[in-house]
Amino acid sequence: MAEKRKSVNLRCGLLDFQVGECHDSIPLDPEEYVRASAEAGIQTLVFIGKDACGCAFYDSDLVKRNTAVQSDYLAQAIAAGKKYGVEIYTYFNVLLDDKLGERFPEYRMIDGAGKPVIAYDYYKILCPNSPYFGIAKERIADLLRRYEVQGIFLDITYFSPDTCHCRYCKERFEKRYGYTLPDQFERGTKELREFHEFLTESRTRLLEGLAQTIRQTRDVRILWNGSGNPRLENGADGKADILSTEFHAPDFTDGLIRVKWAQSRGMPVIMSIPYELGSWGDWSILPKENLETVVSMITANGGGCAVNHVPYPSGEFASSVNQCVKQSIKSAYDKVKALEPWLVNTESVPDVAVINSPASRRLSQWGKVFSNDSYPNSLTGAVKMLLESGRHFDVLSEKTFCANAGRYHTAILPGAACLDEETAEAVRHFVNGGGVLIASGPVGLYRNDGSRADNFLLADVLGVDLKGESEFSVDYISDIKDITEKIARDIPDNPILVHQANLKAVRVSLHENAESGASLTEPLFEATAERHVYHQHAHPARKSGFSAVVINKFGKGTCVYFAPEIFSSFQATGSPWLLKMVQNLLDSDCQSTVRVEAPVCPHVSLRQQGGNWVMHLTNVSGSRFDLSKSFLAQTIPMQNIKAHLLKKASKVYSVPEKIPLPFTTEGDETTVMIPELKSSITIVIE
Ligand SMILES: [Zn+2]
Repeated sequence: MAEKRKSVNLRCGLLDFQVGECHDSIPLDPEEYVRASAEAGIQTLVFIGKDACGCAFYDSDLVKRNTAVQSDYLAQAIAAGKKYGVEIYTYFNVLLDDKLGERFPEYRMIDGAGKPVIAYDYYKILCPNSPYFGIAKERIADLLRRYEVQGIFLDITYFSPDTCHCRYCKERFEKRYGYTLPDQFERGTKELREFHEFLTESRTRLLEGLAQTIRQTRDVRILWNGSGNPRLENGADGKADILSTEFHAPDFTDGLIRVKWAQSRGMPVIMSIPYELGSWGDWSILPKENLETVVSMITANGGGCAVNHVPYPSGEFASSVNQCVKQSIKSAYDKVKALEPWLVNTESVPDVAVINSPASRRLSQWGKVFSNDSYPNSLTGAVKMLLESGRHFDVLSEKTFCANAGRYHTAILPGAACLDEETAEAVRHFVNGGGVLIASGPVGLYRNDGSRADNFLLADVLGVDLKGESEFSVDYISDIKDITEKIARDIPDNPILVHQANLKAVRVSLHENAESGASLTEPLFEATAERHVYHQHAHPARKSGFSAVVINKFGKGTCVYFAPEIFSSFQATGSPWLLKMVQNLLDSDCQSTVRVEAPVCPHVSLRQQGGNWVMHLTNVSGSRFDLSKSFLAQTIPMQNIKAHLLKKASKVYSVPEKIPLPFTTEGDETTVMIPELKSSITIVIE
């Protein structure tokens, strides 16, 4: 078990074959498919077992085989896996099952209006609190008893939005909380908080129950979709052997947050990647450059990949292998294979820690403090700032930060309106010991039940006390002073707008030794249809008398606190001035282990392997980490990149070719010159 948890094949494939029975025949030949997978460099293949329609691709008395399939696909895939040296895992869709939904309508998920739910456009979804849970366990045990697979991938173990209000959930909820489950909820209420808690507990119970059944049946690796997604952090995830979630191009930032967060939890990670433009079942092809970029970003951060590959199941284009997809996978995996010696047995070099706060995330799901489920905007804003600044960082959950805080020099707490006491203590200890904390907004001001405390949980570290909230939806940062050497560098001498933030700015008073770095400036009034000036919101007009930026020396460390929540505002607006303020801080106050200088920053990841550092640069310049659909159809090469590293190097070279790169050293710092970056480069610093 310990051995199994250690490492995982980096080059995996997925046959997410949700094709149903609406075909005269499906000519796919599993042996040919597995052979092609092996040729593409795939080491582990997640092969379809039971799909969302409720069909099996194996023989069983419990689940009927897909009628368009003439033979036992899974048995053939396992045999072919042995022949071609491919490890076979099977795929089991847990909660989507059209056939069972038809047979047992009472087991289906029900929404607040009392209607059975259709999930992902077409599928009947079953409730894990219904007797279906027992059926799922029997089916999975039966599958694993019959087939010698080496792993099982569980998909769709989540509740649909606005569910579940089935009779089983109602009974269970009432027993747990002592009142009837409401049909509708108002934001900010105890009922909605308890409903979210109920859903999390229900999902945890499902996953723990399935994991236990699997362990009792066969010694296989267990992974389920979502365990690598910070949105779904769950007490059961530790029961898996591998964490897993999806990475969809062109949303590079979201994928990157997921892989960084998952790998920081100390378990192997496999990210599923659609071969399509965007998402599953699109029947389109992701440009080769995109796939290579995604694969490079995942492996550069310590994860493995599972690229989906679904040939057309029937009709004139039907085949066992889509040659375009196969070539694309092969091209990406050839590179991974060549780099493998520098990808395995590495760990992230601790540098900047971005703290993902599950407590704040939960509050944003139901609480009134956040306008909607917007916590992720704060986290994403902080991550984008670091990406744009050419810095290496980890995304850590509060628990992981508590265990490892001492290894980092800088921590960022974006939008953490609610913090666990233990996290607050770890942050206090971290700054006291010499760390730099960058925080913004009402940090730790709210309790788990949504109530507002009298003061910030970290008031001593922030160097401020709460005096109230801004009355406005927009605020401005003005009079930025040059007190932390460079905070004001290149910032216009003009009030800087902060708007579209997740959380309202707070008014604070300063502790004795804290210094104000800027003023919080307000509009004269909130713009309305009746009273407004120009378009959008009102102009800066009045200094509030409160600080917008506060610098507090605490113990041996420093906290830089922004009273407006700048990270979500940056995510919403892309303001270069908010970015510049944080970049100035990183430049002046933080001992970054690596800082990359380039016209547009590539994604940088720094890992250690024994005494060496392995630096990965991935060129995502064509997309600028954008959320809009801008696929990388070609790579725009970058010239003359410099990477400054906090390590005295004796040898610097790119791998796998081992080509020496020019570098200079000064004191403990090494500057590496990279003449050209095409799609990606991996550099060893000895
Ligand atoms: Zn239910």
